[in-house]
Amino acid sequence: MSANGLQVYVLCGGLLELDLALMLPGRAPGSRWTVPVPCFLVVHARGRLLFDTGVHRAAITDPVGRLGESRASRFGVRSQPGDDVVSQLAHLRLQPDDMTYVANSHLHFDHCGGNEFFPRSTFLVQRGELEAARDPVVLASKRYTPSPQDFDHPLPYQPVDGEHDVFGDGTAMLVPTYGHTPGHQSLRVRAGKGADVVLTADACYTRENMDRDLLPGVVWDPDEMSRSLARLKDLRDRHGATVVYGHDPAQWRELPRAPEPLVIG
Ligand SMILES: [Zn+2]
Repeated sequence: MSANGLQVYVLCGGLLELDLALMLPGRAPGSRWTVPVPCFLVVHARGRLLFDTGVHRAAITDPVGRLGESRASRFGVRSQPGDDVVSQLAHLRLQPDDMTYVANSHLHFDHCGGNEFFPRSTFLVQRGELEAARDPVVLASKRYTPSPQDFDHPLPYQPVDGEHDVFGDGTAMLVPTYGHTPGHQSLRVRAGKGADVVLTADACYTRENMDRDLLPGVVWDPDEMSRSLARLKDLRDRHGATVVYGHDPAQWRELPRAPEPLVIG
């Protein structure tokens, strides 16, 4: 039996083909690669937390209808049937209503696509992210492009201000990592000795972004994002945390995925 019963699972929330230069500046545009869209489940004695909900499953069969012309031309949907968060939870014999909490790292389409399937969960999203996503001035600037059809449903959103201790015992902390978007957040899970895991989401796309301090093309506030990236790198390199990057194909191939646990506390 595990020490504290805490478990973390990696779920596939989709696969997207995109231009490598979008994620790693300095690369010549035109070379495309396929990246994972991970979601994560944290199982705790006081409830279950889903971190991010991936790409909406309708994008698999009707990418243009779901994502719109512009997004569908930039992002090729390479998900197979079953690569969506609801199907992935079923591998663990869980249903959407079993989620006590859903946290969105941010409100881009590939991180909140499945939100509508969780009407009975409490949604934990940074206040700055929620407000920016509904602010006409921000939207008109086109510097932040949230996905209203994915997040703007009558769901119980509970705004979070900065760091947030989800279960009240320090094991699952939402950590503000602003910059990629106005209110981006990451998740740190401390499942016990030697099991400190940081799920960066889009505060850091790949290991190379962290190793070389590289910001991607898509960024709301570069200075803020640099500071967030430095904080995450510090957790990896000075505190020994295991970092799971936001969209890293090489790391994805190595990660145990549900129903296998990533971490057992
Ligand atoms: Zn993303």
